[in-house]
Amino acid sequence: MASVTLQGVRKIYRDGSREQVAVHGVDLEVADGEFVVLVGPSGCGKSTTLRMIAGLESISGGQLLIGDRVVNHVPAKERDIAMVFQNYALYPHMTAYDNMAFALTLRGMPKPEIETRVSEAATILGIEDLLQRKPRHMSGGQRQRVAVGRAIVRHPQVFLFDEPLSNLDAKLRVQMRREISRLHRQLGATMIYVTHDQVEAMTLGDRIVVLNAGHVQQIDAPMMLYANPRNTFVATFIGSPPMNLVSGILARGSGDTAPTGGADGGKLHFRAGDGVMQLPIPSSWAPALAGRAERAVVLGIRPEELELAETAEAGVVSMRVDLVEPLGNEMLVYASAGAVEVTARSLPRRMPPQGAPITLRFPPERLHMFDAETTDSLASRSGG
Ligand code: ADP
Ligand code: MG
Repeated sequence: MASVTLQGVRKIYRDGSREQVAVHGVDLEVADGEFVVLVGPSGCGKSTTLRMIAGLESISGGQLLIGDRVVNHVPAKERDIAMVFQNYALYPHMTAYDNMAFALTLRGMPKPEIETRVSEAATILGIEDLLQRKPRHMSGGQRQRVAVGRAIVRHPQVFLFDEPLSNLDAKLRVQMRREISRLHRQLGATMIYVTHDQVEAMTLGDRIVVLNAGHVQQIDAPMMLYANPRNTFVATFIGSPPMNLVSGILARGSGDTAPTGGADGGKLHFRAGDGVMQLPIPSSWAPALAGRAERAVVLGIRPEELELAETAEAGVVSMRVDLVEPLGNEMLVYASAGAVEVTARSLPRRMPPQGAPITLRFPPERLHMFDAETTDSLASRSGG
C-alpha cells in the first residue's frame, strides 16, 4: 500500500490551437490506507484527475507521487495501481475467471498463484459460483464485482474507482456501496473513488474532495464539509435537499424592530425580500462581519434546521406554504414570503395545508453567511 500525493497537478487539453484547462492545479495528499472521494458535477475534472493518477492521461503540470516516488513519467503498468471503471470493461468472450486472471497471466505469474489469488478475490466478493460464466450471463452487479475482482487479484498499492456504481439501479447501488466500504476495511488499501453522487461521497469517504470546473473547492471529512462548507457551491452540492440560500443584505440594527438608522452599537441583522425577512445573527459573528454593514450577503440554512414556530418572535419569519411533500419518514415543506423561498424538512406530524400561513424559525446558531460576490463563507454555525 502507498500514499498518493498531488502537488499542483494540472491538465490542459489541446485541440489544435484551442486549449482547455480541465484540472487547475490540484493539491492533495492521500494517506496510506485512506479512502478519498472526488466528487463534483459532470465535467468538473474527476475522471481526468483519476486518469492522471493511473497513468492513462499525461500530466500537464505539477507533480504526482506514489509513496515517495515521482511518477509523472512512469507508464501506467509500472505504477502498481488498479482501476475499476463505470462500464466494467470486461472482455466479453472470457469467463469471469479468465477476466480476473488475465493481467496476472500477462505478467507471467505461475498458474497456481493465479488460482490462489482469483479464488481469494472471489471469496471476498462472494462470486465463487460465477467464475465460469461469461459477462453476458451476469447481472450488472455481478459484472461490477468481477471488475472489482480483477483489481483485487493484482494486489495493487492503490485502487482507483471511476463511478463504479453509476450503471446499477438504486437498490443495488446501496448494497455495492456497503461492499466497497467493507472491502476497504478488509484490504486496508489506499482507495481513490470518483462519483457525481454526493450521498456516495458522504457514505464512503474518509475525506471528500469537492471539485467544480476543474478547481478544488474544499477537502474535508464528510461531516465537516456538511457543517462548514467553505462556499455556496459546497453548501448546495453536499446535502439533499440542498442548503437554502437567501440573498439579502447585512442591515444595521438588531432586527428585532425596524432599524432606526441611528447609532445602535454596530449591531447587524440579515434583511431580505424588502424586509419580509429580518433575522438576528449571532453576536459572535461580529468580528467576521466587521465593516460589512449594508453589503450584499447570502444567508444559508439547512432544511432540517428550520423549525415550525408557534409564535412570532425574533428569528421567526411569516411565510406561506407553497407545497408539502410527504416522504413517509419526513416531510418537505416548500414555503415563501415575497421573493424569499425556502425548503424545510421535518417529521410529518402536522402537515400544513397548501396556501396556509406558516411561521418558520431560523435559529441564529444554525445560520451560515456567505459573501454575495465571492460566494465564500464569512461565518458559519460553529462561529467564525
Ligand atoms: P468528469 O469526470 O468530472 O465528468 P472529465 O474529467 O471527464 O470530467 O472532463 C473534464 C473536462 O475535460 C470536461 O470539460 C471534458 O469535456 C474535458 N475533456 C475530458 N477528456 C477530454 C479529451 N480527451 N480531450 C479534450 N477534452 C477533454
Ligand atoms: Mg467522469
